Amino acid sequence: MRVVVVGGGIGGLALGAGLRRQGFEVAVFDRDADVAATGGYHITLDEQAQAALRELVAPDIVRRLLVSASALRLRDRDALWDRRGRLLGRGPDLTGDVSIDADRITLRLLLAEAVGDDLHLGRTVSGVGHDDDGTPHVLFADAAPVPADLVVGADGVHSLVARHLAGGPTNRPAGIIGFSGRTLRRDLNPGEQRRLGLRSGTAMGPRGAALYVGFLDAVGNAALDAPRLRMSVTTGPTYIWGAMFPESAATDSLRDLDGGQLQDALLRGFRDRGWAGHTLEVIARADPCSVAAFRFNAASTRAAELAPWPAGRITALGDAVHATPPTAGKGAGAAIRDAAALLQVLGDVAASGSTLVEAVNRFEAGTRLRGSEVLILAMRMVRLILATDTTFGAAATAVTTPILAAAARLRH
Ligand SMILES: Cc1cc2nc3c(=O)[nH]c(=O)nc-3n(C[C@H](O)[C@H](O)[C@H](O)COP(=O)(O)OP(=O)(O)OC[C@H]3O[C@@H](n4cnc5c(N)ncnc54)[C@H](O)[C@@H]3O)c2cc1C
Repeated sequence: MRVVVVGGGIGGLALGAGLRRQGFEVAVFDRDADVAATGGYHITLDEQAQAALRELVAPDIVRRLLVSASALRLRDRDALWDRRGRLLGRGPDLTGDVSIDADRITLRLLLAEAVGDDLHLGRTVSGVGHDDDGTPHVLFADAAPVPADLVVGADGVHSLVARHLAGGPTNRPAGIIGFSGRTLRRDLNPGEQRRLGLRSGTAMGPRGAALYVGFLDAVGNAALDAPRLRMSVTTGPTYIWGAMFPESAATDSLRDLDGGQLQDALLRGFRDRGWAGHTLEVIARADPCSVAAFRFNAASTRAAELAPWPAGRITALGDAVHATPPTAGKGAGAAIRDAAALLQVLGDVAASGSTLVEAVNRFEAGTRLRGSEVLILAMRMVRLILATDTTFGAAATAVTTPILAAAARLRH
């Protein structure tokens, strides 16, 4: 069976690796010319995502990922702060948590290595369709169509494949604009290093502003100790942060900026909302090249509304089906789980003689449930942030945060 995968991001590469390993004929096409040309933020992979990955790639790749990833169980409990940097509360005990944070570039490089020469970079797919005899194919503006037994759209949030299948967009803006960047811990003043600590945390303010500061230490907190196998891109203790504002005409203009200009505009946005200067140091000291703006897009949280098409020999996975805002840290994990589920049903076709379309139908039913599950989690945080942008929410935030801060001081 020949499978063509459109998109070599997290889900497409995971699928390509799994298919190749199981002996399927596969070709993965991605428009990027360089696998390392990808957002620089980190990806949390929970137990389910790691189990799926073990189904897809060789043990050596999993091992090298663990050696290059930061273990959540080794960092301190997460923190919740207000806009003045006062501690409001702590997250759950992470001691028994097996999740890891992997640098996105490292994860993509490892998956690409597993796909090997079945990955074709610099290849933008311009459309999908069927030959007269029903064989699906992918189209290129500058090359001949490529036919396949199955075409899989793993082409992300603006998926051309899912749009073709659904007859329109499969997600829409969630109302929040996000900004990401990375800051070396050693570049912060000692006071901020102490306050942020060896942990991740989130600061919430009124008027929909929030700042997530993720802690990544792929060396000090390596999930597996085998330094010679390490290939992490992030080598020193680093804060990888994500700032959030409600979308408005004012934030629209930010999306045209990048680098230092975007960083300055972001700092102004927080100062205008009354955030204390020291809480913004993590943004001010970031590498300007790492600062980027992106819109949160979300598909429906209802399983029945995901993948709204009859099963056929063109399907889709990951963000193409269930675009998930990063607020739960689950989107990439869901894409990897989709890939493992698709590999499993394709294996069943070979073993049990069920038809390809029946197998795709089973896969899509599971994808709807997985997508809905992660979207419900991610949208909870989105709604909480947006609620602080209402008159009542702003007042409630202003009244409750000093009380929570005082209670936290008493507790710690
Ligand atoms: C700041 C941020 C932080 C995040 N943090 C986490 C996290 O901690 N944990 C987590 O699980 N998820 C996280 N996510 C979400 C996660 O990145 C996505 O859910 C995940 O990457 C989806 O995988 P995918 O394979 O579906 O799509 P993508 O990884 O987006 O890949 C799509 C690929 O398709 C290619 N492509 C698109 N169109 C075409 C075309 N026409 N032709 C050829 N190629 C094409 C693109 O170049 C891209 O490589 C985060 C997202 C963001 C923005």
